[in-house]
Amino acid sequence: VSIPLLLHLIIYSTTSDTLPTILLIGPSGAGKTALVTLLERGRPTATRTSQTPHTVEVSLPVKTPVASSRFRSPNDPTWEVTKKLLIQDTPGHGKLRHYAMDSISKPQSLQGIIFVVDAADLSSEAREGARQAAEYLHDVLLQLQKRATNSKSSRAPKEMPVLIAANKLDLFTALPAPLVKSTLESEITKLRKSLSAGLLDSGVGAKDLDVTEEHDWLGEVGDGPFEFSQLQEFNVQVKILAGNVTGVDGSDVKQWWNWIGSIL
Ligand code: GDP
Repeated sequence: VSIPLLLHLIIYSTTSDTLPTILLIGPSGAGKTALVTLLERGRPTATRTSQTPHTVEVSLPVKTPVASSRFRSPNDPTWEVTKKLLIQDTPGHGKLRHYAMDSISKPQSLQGIIFVVDAADLSSEAREGARQAAEYLHDVLLQLQKRATNSKSSRAPKEMPVLIAANKLDLFTALPAPLVKSTLESEITKLRKSLSAGLLDSGVGAKDLDVTEEHDWLGEVGDGPFEFSQLQEFNVQVKILAGNVTGVDGSDVKQWWNWIGSIL
């Protein structure tokens, strides 16, 4: 290998690999494309029908507090240096979700996950939107939980912060963040029950079903309700914050930027 090529490889790998990556996932229509273009260019643009993952480089707004500079004095000249990161947008369509799952199982540079939900779609009486969002979220969280339960090493896996971005708060039918949280928790509680009942129906006898087996059961085992806090044991920190990407009064994504700053 020639020296210039070697240098190129070293420079390329250090610049592209050192940027922290945040994975953006969630059901179709939640607002991921609008959000990623807003974060990248400062304004949302028309939807791009995504078929493959799409990564963009974004800069944190200058005044956003960043965890890694928490101990720095505001007079420090490096304080104002723009912090850059990569946001990987993944297709929300059911058949394309393996892209998201792949990224979660290979989390080398993955710093966190933003799961976008349409908070106005969770409030319908039929609860179809809530059920679908909960199903996707359940699979994502279970995959993260398995990082800990399948781990051969005795050390806990690196902490994985997950932001549930409750989007479209400009719409009057949108649920506020605490209700988004309780709605998703109760849908996941129902889903866990029906998944384990499905296992029983499929011929696995009750005596064969080891309920202490954490493999496919998300969170705390037992009859109690599911709560996101149960995932702390697996080093998965879930936070729910509201915002809106579009709307008559413009966008409000400050809480999400602050969350991003807090995990960098
Ligand atoms: P994706 O499938 O998750 O990528 O969703 P899109 O980004 O394509 O957004 C779906 C639709 O929701 C588009 O028509 C967006 O303009 C709209 N949308 C996204 N964010 C908001 C929001 O905060 N408020 C409102 N009212 N509409 C939004």
